[in-house]
Amino acid sequence: GGERVTSASGVFTSTLTELIGGVRTIAAYNTQDFERRRVNKAINRLAKAMIRNGYERLKVTPISQGVISTLLIVIILVATQYYVLPGKLDVALLLAFVFALVRMMPLITELNKNRGTWASLHGSLINVAELLRTDNKPYLVEGKGTIQSLKEGIVFENVSFGYDSDSEVLQDINVRIERARTTAIVGTSGAGKSTLVDLIPRFYDPTQGRVLWDGVDLRDVNSRSLREKIAVVSQSTFIFNDSIRANIAYGLGDIPDERILEVAGQANALEFIADMPAGLDTVLGDSGMRLSGGQRQRIAIARAILRDPDILILDEATSALDSVSEKLVQQSLERLMRGRTVIAIAHRLSTVENADWVVVVEKGRIVEQGPYSELLRKKGKLWEFHSIQFQQAIEA
Ligand code: ADP
Repeated sequence: GGERVTSASGVFTSTLTELIGGVRTIAAYNTQDFERRRVNKAINRLAKAMIRNGYERLKVTPISQGVISTLLIVIILVATQYYVLPGKLDVALLLAFVFALVRMMPLITELNKNRGTWASLHGSLINVAELLRTDNKPYLVEGKGTIQSLKEGIVFENVSFGYDSDSEVLQDINVRIERARTTAIVGTSGAGKSTLVDLIPRFYDPTQGRVLWDGVDLRDVNSRSLREKIAVVSQSTFIFNDSIRANIAYGLGDIPDERILEVAGQANALEFIADMPAGLDTVLGDSGMRLSGGQRQRIAIARAILRDPDILILDEATSALDSVSEKLVQQSLERLMRGRTVIAIAHRLSTVENADWVVVVEKGRIVEQGPYSELLRKKGKLWEFHSIQFQQAIEA
């Protein structure tokens, strides 16, 4: 019994941990329902194990009740021998005492047990109540409109945003992201690049200003239809504890193997998939095959290619891969980026150089934007930023 509970609770915990780690991927890929079913399965297994365990414990209870009954008989015998027969105690009184004892015993046991349970649950209950409160968290208010394919571009119009009311992480952002062009966002760590980009799939709404999709305020559209048009490839793209096939087709249901192999080929992933023990059926993740950083990225790229998104959000890895992986990833990324609207949080010089528009962010503000060559010629912030990075590269 106990082991079954432990194992089910292990599965439940790792499923939850995986969910929390993959929450961005889940939101971006609209797979909340799929994940809900997965969690339900784990919860049901845990509940069944606990109920079984409870039954087994119930079987033990009669034994302790046997002990109690024996004890009672001993008390009656002793009391009769030493108190009732010598006339020190009335029989009626003894019977009343024994009766009261018999009635109270289970209540006391129960009370004691419940006190312990309550003490251990009380803290958890308060936490759950706090989590379920909806009046102290910003909730996304769903718009009614469905989004159409991007025709012109996405515009940030006087956008400010803060995670909490007393500090602004983005201030007065004005930028135009043109369709079918690559926009590179550059800035130091903590400048606000990820936050800015997170407003596009509506992970958050601006606290001031608007984000417009071909002139339509993102607040007026359904976030599901919006996210269907977007794919995110980042260094932290989540690989779920499932087959390679399911990881590539993530959120899209049944996709024929030929199509999966085709996108895997475009993502330069075919070779290492063929080397895996069970090919597309090889299970990845915590309890499966571990992938290298470059392999994970290529799975993420295959996933994005299969979705054929209007908008590609690219969050480049800060740490470089080995040069072979780097080249394979770079090549497949270029295939994915071709002809698409790309917003790249750029760490590689080549991405910045090849971008059509470069936006430099500093402390939540856009301090400079324009074509790469023009910004360099101005010897402004981008130039400064590059010199610092170059200096660091020499020192390192
Ligand atoms: P960048 O991507 O440029 O490194 P971020 O957008 O991640 O910058 O972060 C900008 C600022 O917002 C940082 O000061 C960071 O600490 C803060 N921040 C980021 N995410 C959160 C969050 N979920 N809650 C509160 N503050 C956050």
